[in-house]
Amino acid sequence: MRIMEALDGLDHGPGGVPHRRPWILTLDVNGRPHRWVSWQAACTYHARDMVAWSVGEQAFMIFGGTSRLTGERSQLSSQSIIAIKGRALRPASLRQIPPLSNRELFRRDRHTCAYCSATLAGGQLTRDHIQPVSRGGRDVWMNVVTACRACNQRKDNRRPEQAGMALLYAPYVPNKAEYLILSNRNILADQMDFLVQHLPQQSRARVLDA
Ligand SMILES: [Zn+2]
Repeated sequence: MRIMEALDGLDHGPGGVPHRRPWILTLDVNGRPHRWVSWQAACTYHARDMVAWSVGEQAFMIFGGTSRLTGERSQLSSQSIIAIKGRALRPASLRQIPPLSNRELFRRDRHTCAYCSATLAGGQLTRDHIQPVSRGGRDVWMNVVTACRACNQRKDNRRPEQAGMALLYAPYVPNKAEYLILSNRNILADQMDFLVQHLPQQSRARVLDA
């Protein structure tokens, strides 16, 4: 069980080292993954009785003031996954195309250059357009891969076959669940287990380290 106090706004893990509070995964009433919210937003959902049900480990517990009547201190806790009352998401929402950004692109591709297979930190990687933008290529998930700077320069404004460079893996569009995985580096194990169930077969996030 993970219990964190929110009194001073900083969590202190083992050895007094501050660590980040986990994001809470929200679902619609049908259990479709929706988005990450802060612990403050999760508190608001609980306080307004907007949580239909919840699962997962206890993600945090916060303490409020002491009641003058009972002398007891108020407290509020939340599990790591909460379903919010209200309108259900359309089934198609899982297939919505998420926004493209380098951080999520590099994570989709496991920080691995698509041409030389070097695995590098984000600062040393680039977004390569398979069909160059200067030749009509679009800036979309299906036309981009992660490339190291050297390979990107060598490929220049050419298609891989024109440059004599083979793609070592294929691009794909992450679905909603995968995007939620890619956009959070601090996912709890039970949140990951939940999201993996909503991944398509080809997703590389199936083997992504949480
Ligand atoms: Zn490379």
